[in-house]
Amino acid sequence: MSQLHIFDSHQGSLQPFRPVQEGHVGLYVCGPTVYSNVHLGNVRTFLSFDLVFRYLQYQGYKVRYVRNITDAGHLVDDADEGEDKVGARAKVEKLEPMEIVQRYTVDFHNVMRAFNTLPPSIEPTATGHIVEQIAMTQQLIANGWAYEANGSVYFDVETYSQTHPYGELSGRNIDEMRSGTRDLDGQSDKRSPLDFALWKKASDAHIMRWASPWGDGFPGWHLECSAMSTKYLGETFDIHGGGMDLKFPHHECEIAQNKGATGCGGANVWMHANMLTLNGKRMSKSTGNTLLPGELLSGDSPHLTKGYSASVARFFIHQAHYRSVLDFSDEALQAAEKGYQRLTHALQTLEKRVGGGPAKGTFDVDAWQERCLDAMNNDFNSPILIAHLFDAVKAIQADQNDNSHLGQEGAAALLGHMRAWMFEVLGLHPESANSTGSGSSQKALDAAMHIVLDARRKAREQKDWATSDAIRDQLAAGGIQVKDGPDGSTYSIQE
Ligand code: AMP
Ligand code: ZN
Repeated sequence: MSQLHIFDSHQGSLQPFRPVQEGHVGLYVCGPTVYSNVHLGNVRTFLSFDLVFRYLQYQGYKVRYVRNITDAGHLVDDADEGEDKVGARAKVEKLEPMEIVQRYTVDFHNVMRAFNTLPPSIEPTATGHIVEQIAMTQQLIANGWAYEANGSVYFDVETYSQTHPYGELSGRNIDEMRSGTRDLDGQSDKRSPLDFALWKKASDAHIMRWASPWGDGFPGWHLECSAMSTKYLGETFDIHGGGMDLKFPHHECEIAQNKGATGCGGANVWMHANMLTLNGKRMSKSTGNTLLPGELLSGDSPHLTKGYSASVARFFIHQAHYRSVLDFSDEALQAAEKGYQRLTHALQTLEKRVGGGPAKGTFDVDAWQERCLDAMNNDFNSPILIAHLFDAVKAIQADQNDNSHLGQEGAAALLGHMRAWMFEVLGLHPESANSTGSGSSQKALDAAMHIVLDARRKAREQKDWATSDAIRDQLAAGGIQVKDGPDGSTYSIQE
């Protein structure tokens, strides 16, 4: 059987995967900044790593999957200036920052459940690890890679880069970086514009603040991931993932922090998931070019002609390789829906197949399974895997005539493999495939409905009755009845 190879963004090449500890994998993925609803772009990245998590487990690895929640330290300019994203939102909504964090963490979890992602093994928060971040900052100062200035602490990129290849992950050249940055205007405490904050002094207006050896302040955004990955996975662990946009500065700075504090660069393999685009442009919270999960499920968006199930969206996303850009469109979703239905119908046919035919058929199930494994072992190539699943669909259809394509043993073996690929690895909902219904489908439906009803509640708050009624009517057309009561809306399924 082929061996798992992963494209390491650090080396820029496909590498055989050799875990630090045999049979175990340490996986760290940068989680969301919980200051607004996650959009489908964010969802794509988390689904990409859910697939990685699932396949590693399918391969028999014991995986410790750490995915953090960024609830402090991520500033509005994605660098070292301005307000905290969570704090800024709290001011606008006149809420406590932790109310913002709670609201959007709950939303994130609902979305993840609706898309049938497996929960990570540990989901640490930045605010829960202030002590570790202060300790790492102290270590970096002690090792000579950081300096204190006026209550803030900065990583000294110029000194570090004399002995370490700063820019090694993103492929940036330090001289080009220097010429690309503006000179300090005397207002900054930094020694060089390339330096980045480990700890920032909190101005009087900054709400989210903690006591530290340098006075009241808050941690720099990059530091939390170094502190938490080291704490839970060790100084050297297997895989670090995130979206492509995090390569620089976030992950570059993480490597520098890890090397500076521990002498090790953190992850052995860096994986970067590519972007989901809408109308050819990156989905992004800041530009507003987004589609929200609630809009996808309800169909309430100018970009959509109807709503789609989370499984169809998941199928659509895994039909592209995680390193390719994927453009979202209604036509592409319609095509994915048709493909998904073809696949699930074939599985139902196989499930209902009763005996008959020779023991072994003409379709070589073992060789087919090898091809599926080869696809996934080649950097988690899910589109090729799905193409193989459609080869199996053809064999199932051909077998219907005389049972000779699969044969009895072949049919049983194929059924086991197909179920495992579709539900265990690709994370599609078994229930949406065979509509038998079960606890997990109910949970997923509840999570999806929570998102849809929340979108409708917001529309009602803004007195946008057209949207609110459209959501209710579309749900009704799909057999879901919404009832509005004094404590909010509930739903029931019309039998
Ligand atoms: P954020 O909450 O902005 O820190 O983003 C959470 C994750 O979503 C990060 O790994 C980002 O790289 C990823 N992400 C953001 N925008 C997109 C997009 N358009 N497509 C795919 N992933 C994205
Ligand atoms: Zn991170």
